[in-house]
Amino acid sequence: MSSPADAPDDDLAVPSEPALPARCEVLVVGAGPAGSACAAHLARAGHEVWLVDQHDFPRDKVCGDGLIPDAHQALQRLGVLDEVMRHAHAVSHVRCVAPRGGHVDVPGTLAVLPRRRLDALLCRHARRSGARVLTPARFESLIEQDGQVVGARLVHGGQTREVHTRWVVMATGAHVPALARTGLCDRRTPSGVALRAYVHHPGLAESHRTMDVVWHRALRPGYGWIFPCGGDVYNIGVGAFFRRGDTRERDRAADANLREVFDAFTRLYEPARALMDGGTMQGELRGAPLRCTLSGARSGRPGLLATGEMLGSTYDFTGEGIGKALETGLMAADTLLGAGTDDHATLADYERRLDTLRPKFALYERANRVNAHPWLADLVIWRARRSPRLLQRMSGVLNETSNPGHLISARGLLRLLTG
Ligand SMILES: Cc1cc2nc3c(=O)[nH]c(=O)nc-3n(C[C@H](O)[C@H](O)[C@H](O)COP(=O)(O)OP(=O)(O)OC[C@H]3O[C@@H](n4cnc5c(N)ncnc54)[C@H](O)[C@@H]3O)c2cc1C
Repeated sequence: MSSPADAPDDDLAVPSEPALPARCEVLVVGAGPAGSACAAHLARAGHEVWLVDQHDFPRDKVCGDGLIPDAHQALQRLGVLDEVMRHAHAVSHVRCVAPRGGHVDVPGTLAVLPRRRLDALLCRHARRSGARVLTPARFESLIEQDGQVVGARLVHGGQTREVHTRWVVMATGAHVPALARTGLCDRRTPSGVALRAYVHHPGLAESHRTMDVVWHRALRPGYGWIFPCGGDVYNIGVGAFFRRGDTRERDRAADANLREVFDAFTRLYEPARALMDGGTMQGELRGAPLRCTLSGARSGRPGLLATGEMLGSTYDFTGEGIGKALETGLMAADTLLGAGTDDHATLADYERRLDTLRPKFALYERANRVNAHPWLADLVIWRARRSPRLLQRMSGVLNETSNPGHLISARGLLRLLTG
């Protein structure tokens, strides 16, 4: 049986244009959630957009595949939510499991869809919205004139091609090589690393319907997860998140072999053990870096915007980034829709839009201390099992109507202890 990472989804193939034009209005590089959202939104508004990616679609992307409420909202705004949900496996709760085994089920609007499918649907949506898609085309470098970005060089069909543009939008995700060639990179090291596998297990279906997130000393500074993809297939993985400036923690996590952490997860969490013992792994255990905290890269320079995980748009603490990649992609598009001839004003406008997200990222950064000190999860979950109000607040965090930092700030902890 093929894995969701390499299933022959011929129905999802996204046709490519044969060649690049010499000139276009906007070039979007990277057709993940950020790039496809940006291209779809601009094209729908009537702009001439080319969307390029180094891979043909469908293609795999290492991810937990979880769609949390912010992703649902962004997909809705893009006009593709219904189509995505026809392919996705809807889930009603996140199960938060503490080191001592206590758990709480937090309700939310959730779904799981392997990225091979999701990203193909998004890229196809961009194409249907009017964007021209060219794959496989690898970004090599920017073309600049007097400090202004005026286009890009791409390798397509074994040859280097140049395309001149009014704007280039870079959406190449967490991998550094493309970012490093834009002149926008402030930090090369990732904020975290994570790995996942797909496992087929027909016997687990009845008992296992939640998206499980598990904290434990052995998983520090991170957590393990099991997300049901539907069709008796589960996405199981572990991630490690380094707090900014905490080099000791980063070094410890770098030393820890994530495969060993994965093995520990499958020993210490009973459903993970049952999944691995009775299931069949589909494909490889694969890892990837994450860039979080909306930092590590500048958002643009004249003629150039960066968006998505390239900008650090993934939340640390939870590692969720599909929703915010879509949102920042839409923000980049909205910025260009309002752009005039003054690029500095356009860049300032984009920064202002991104600033509206920064308080949320700061709170998730604070909440990330749970990954380093999992006993905090024991405390929060123990209390949430007794307090419907706290459970409601946790659901609010998931649904982005309340703040995660409040759950584990000093004041929040005091409130937890004192009721
Ligand atoms: C193991 C793991 C688990 C995760 N789990 C979840 C989860 O459950 N839910 C969630 O919301 N988020 C999760 N995330 C985070 C999520 O994967 C990212 O936030 C999201 O993919 C970012 O989207 P993006 O569009 O910015 O970048 P990407 O999705 O990485 O897309 C970037 C695109 O750019 C292309 N590209 C790169 N370089 C070039 C080049 N030189 N030329 C042309 N194209 C190029 C790539 O091929 C790719 O298609 C997880 C991440 C990891 C690593």
